[in-house]
Amino acid sequence: MPQAFLDALTDTLAEIKADGLLKREREITSPQGARITANGRGLINLCANNYLGLADHPRLIAAATDAMQSHGYGMASVRFICGTQDLHRQLETRLARFLDMDDSILFAACFDANAAVFEPLLGAGDAIVSDSLNHASLIDGIRLCKAQKYRYANADMADLEAQLKAARAGGARHVMIVTDGVFSMDGTLAPLPGITALAAQYDAITLVDDCHATGFMGPKGQGTPAHFGVSVDILTGTFGKALGGAIGGYIAGPQPVIDLLRQRARPYLFSNALPPSVVAAGIEALDLVETGDTLRARLFENAQYWRDGLTRLGFDLLAGEHPIVPIMLGEAQLAQDMAAGLNDRGVYVSGFFYPVVPKGRARIRTQMNAALDRDDLDEGLAAFEAVGKELGVI
Ligand SMILES: *Cc1c(COP(=O)(O)O)cnc(C)c1O
Repeated sequence: MPQAFLDALTDTLAEIKADGLLKREREITSPQGARITANGRGLINLCANNYLGLADHPRLIAAATDAMQSHGYGMASVRFICGTQDLHRQLETRLARFLDMDDSILFAACFDANAAVFEPLLGAGDAIVSDSLNHASLIDGIRLCKAQKYRYANADMADLEAQLKAARAGGARHVMIVTDGVFSMDGTLAPLPGITALAAQYDAITLVDDCHATGFMGPKGQGTPAHFGVSVDILTGTFGKALGGAIGGYIAGPQPVIDLLRQRARPYLFSNALPPSVVAAGIEALDLVETGDTLRARLFENAQYWRDGLTRLGFDLLAGEHPIVPIMLGEAQLAQDMAAGLNDRGVYVSGFFYPVVPKGRARIRTQMNAALDRDDLDEGLAAFEAVGKELGVI
């Protein structure tokens, strides 16, 4: 390999480090949960997407273990050759029923679902109108599609309407509005009532990526459309967050959409089927979600308690109702220092900074879950108070 190439990479890494933007991975030796072990120490964990606390749930572990005994370990095939088991179709139909959709299709991850969904459905004569804060996987999926691209300012309905007008004026055949249900860096919700009203007015298709909502937003955990009492055309989502936290993504929608994706979606056609253990645990996770009112109530009680506590201490939070609670700090280095200080005091959080969020908007993103109890939260608040005062944040 040419040395100049490796030298260039080393220079880039040095720049990342000099800018205070280097991400370091800490190794956890326990299961994911309210408390975890890292480097031999117990820590309260406030940064997992484990909203319902299912990541180490005994029923999911039992379902996965049983499926491994009955259906084996791996599929060693894509779905259409010999990788579809009864379990895959059970999960797809079950998920579709839960989401009030005709059908659904599984992917290795939601990143793949989002990479897959646009290219087969839309062509050069069509248009995609996309929120500026959409997840990286939606952005990449849209790049892979030949449709004309329009972007609107985050959650800005006047700008969405302007872009829809532009798409229609440009002669687009089909127009699709694409948004995250929840913007994961901010914990804010997409204004779906406004979006669906504009979609009806401009005859547009709606696609919502509900990764940070399925399982707990809405009265029965059906996600942001249910939360707002509206319906959307296509949903994408993940099993990697509230629904057990292992791996796996999906697209749910009208039958012809799902049928065509099964024929044409490249990450589906050219990538391995999900393993039976994960699929069976996914079915079990939906069981727990459908009877999960208590878990959801605890999650939102925790979120309110945590927000109130941090606000009382004087931290600058982004307002919202979602269990994502970002503490705004500004510079990347401060977010890193704050995360390190909290870690020293037994609280596991992660600083978020450029390029994940805009420069100067660094933060610590805390996330509540149903497995945390009051002692965990009180200990967490005490640590935030101590470190916040040490660093002059409060
Ligand atoms: C987490 C996330 C994804 C990726 O999901 P995976 O299943 O982990 O690949 C996609 N979109 C959004 C909005 C997410 O938050």
